[in-house]
Amino acid sequence: MDVADIPAVPEWLPNHLRDAGIESLYPPQAEAVEAGVTEGENLVASIPTASGKTLIAELAMLASVARGGKALYIVPLRALASEKHAEFEQFEQYGLDVGVSTGNYESEGGWLAGKDVIVATSEKVDSLVRNGAPWLDDLTCVVADEVHLVDDGERGPTLEVTLAKLRRITADLQTVALSATIGNAGELADWLDAELLDSEWRPIDLKKGVHYGQALHLEDGSQQELRVRDGEKQTAAIVRDTLEPDRDEDGAVREEGGSSLVFVNSRRNAEAAAGRLAGVVSEYLGPEEREALADVAEEIRDVSDTETSDDLADAVADGAAFHHAGLSRGHRELVEEAFRDRLIKVVSATPTLAAGVNTPSRRVIVRDWRRYDGTAGGMQPLSVLEVHQMMGRAGRPGRDPYGEAVLIAKSHDELDELFERYVWADPEPVRSKLAAEPALRTHILATVASGFASTREGLLEFLEATLYATQTDERGRLEGVTDDVIAYLERNGFLERGDGGLTATNLGHTVSRLYLDPMSAAEIIDGLEDADDRPTVLGLYQLVARTPDMYELYLRSGEDEEYTMLAYERESEFLGSMPSEFEDNRFEDWLSALKTARLLEDWASELDEDEITDRYGIGPGDIRGKVEAASWLLGAAESLAGELGLEWTPAIREARTRVEDGVREELLDLVSIRGVGRKRARRLYEAGIEDRAALREAEKSVVLAALRGRRSTTETILENVGHRDPSMDGVEPDADAAPESVGSGSADAGSGPADSASDDQASLGDF
Ligand code: ADP
Repeated sequence: MDVADIPAVPEWLPNHLRDAGIESLYPPQAEAVEAGVTEGENLVASIPTASGKTLIAELAMLASVARGGKALYIVPLRALASEKHAEFEQFEQYGLDVGVSTGNYESEGGWLAGKDVIVATSEKVDSLVRNGAPWLDDLTCVVADEVHLVDDGERGPTLEVTLAKLRRITADLQTVALSATIGNAGELADWLDAELLDSEWRPIDLKKGVHYGQALHLEDGSQQELRVRDGEKQTAAIVRDTLEPDRDEDGAVREEGGSSLVFVNSRRNAEAAAGRLAGVVSEYLGPEEREALADVAEEIRDVSDTETSDDLADAVADGAAFHHAGLSRGHRELVEEAFRDRLIKVVSATPTLAAGVNTPSRRVIVRDWRRYDGTAGGMQPLSVLEVHQMMGRAGRPGRDPYGEAVLIAKSHDELDELFERYVWADPEPVRSKLAAEPALRTHILATVASGFASTREGLLEFLEATLYATQTDERGRLEGVTDDVIAYLERNGFLERGDGGLTATNLGHTVSRLYLDPMSAAEIIDGLEDADDRPTVLGLYQLVARTPDMYELYLRSGEDEEYTMLAYERESEFLGSMPSEFEDNRFEDWLSALKTARLLEDWASELDEDEITDRYGIGPGDIRGKVEAASWLLGAAESLAGELGLEWTPAIREARTRVEDGVREELLDLVSIRGVGRKRARRLYEAGIEDRAALREAEKSVVLAALRGRRSTTETILENVGHRDPSMDGVEPDADAAPESVGSGSADAGSGPADSASDDQASLGDF
């Protein structure tokens, strides 16, 4: 279908698409248009990775807005929200207003009322519904990206319930759901009363296969020699083979070498693989490429001064990189861009985030097909759906003749197994995970609190509109869990039952608006009520860390003992009674929470970022994730304490602000100045400048010395604090005030994890 023939879209669209190199629609896109996606029809599109799902969404949203409506695009991860937002901003030149809603869960986002297209995570949309955002009534089109994730035990139910609520708020809301290829897309279409588009079409051929011995075994039965040198790993051999230019008999280059994307099962493995593969890639780099890569490596070092940052920069200098959710956003963007520019030749990634990021490469190598799964107590095979999504990243349209996706077998049996399990297999069907107690606990309270149901029967009727209800034959199960959950919520004072009706209590309303799991709220309330003295920061951090809303930091082997000792040493600080060592699981959870709490305490005691990453074996992005989660939960604890009339709000506020800024109490005033991060604040303090007022009046030579002679920084900070004469002309640093040993410098000025301007870490855990 030619782009000029798409009905109901704005006039400017065909030319805009042509300018972007899109002359005609891909076949699945054309089918979507024929199914009425630009004319308000509901659609479930189950098509392979990289087959142009985004454009289908854009067509639906633009057409809806052109009719005077308002569109919402739901993403599964915060990092993807900014990416999609940046993509949709291209339409602002035609007068559309595009907004992204991330950040805290307590507001109703009134400013979004004026936007035509809004991007948000499902958690954020859920919280907007709970907070009664009035503009939700104006929505005419909702797009759910990666809708197959309704299958995800943790986050799936939120997406499911949120879609059901949005569809209930606006009866004729157009729903477009985009999914990877799954086995039962028809069931999703039934649930959403949608047309089904189920296609295997790809813009570029994909050949799947398995490497074993000295050959690549492809799905069409053919074999291709791919030699592994003595002492070489299979992955390295495949990466090398991909880098080799393809030559004809005379040695002339038929085709330049290409890039590889290697999927592994842990962050540590991703980092190790990048280090090793850098050695392979390095041989293939020309002098110009080396220079350009050295520049990228420098930019990476500038992002933060951690070991992760250094390791990444070292690998990038040699043309390799790793990519995982522990990286900060700046790192990820630099890596993705250099990979797309073909400077970086190989990226080793965990599947988490790479699944949603557009980084095609000639070959995809799925090195690990098993992953550690704590709940199953060991290594578990990845799902077919996941492996196929990784494989789908192979092949760059317009650049490669085809893409190749390769698994790795160590034995002949494994070769057969991998063919059976992944190459020839169809993806699993997607199943709703709603009927689990934790999911229903949250959603039943929110459903009653925001007025979607006011009786047990009304609640059950609402739940009928979920995917779960369309998939289950066991009517009784949902009813049973619902009754258990109602009883739990009543027992904890969140819901009240009377005259056959259900109402949320004031506390219940607060919990729902705060976006807390009711169990987290109950734990926090019990802990705070138990405190006889002003709680310590460690006590408060441990309290929020043990709620189900803080994702876990696992204990590594040998750490049990270390944290058991710490638990006894600091027992008096805990809020609520510590479980006994004989209650295995509960005690272990308590210790994990203590580990998280100590990390937060270290951060709030100004320990260096790289010492923390080292001590806890995590990345800088993880510190940020923990800090954001803690600050959100402590903010919620503050509201709950207020609601219940408890006296600990100042202690909670101190714990929250200290963790947000990563400082001890005495620096809180200084870090509130723009441009002053934890390290600069400490240096100023050491130089005798203890708060804003002192800085406003300070001797400039002393400030300059404390800020290690950085004149423009000093001037800006003095301006920000309102110094009467911030100009640094003729000022020299006062030698007596120079700092000796505070910190190392570059993670300064709010570039640390608590930088509130940055929003790249999904604090609800990456799926
Ligand atoms: P998906 O979301 O399905 O993984 P994307 O929407 O990111 O895939 O599309 C993959 C790439 O294909 C993008 O770079 C996009 O610009 C390009 N593309 C999409 N539709 C067309 C088309 N009709 N013609 C040419 N290129 C297209």
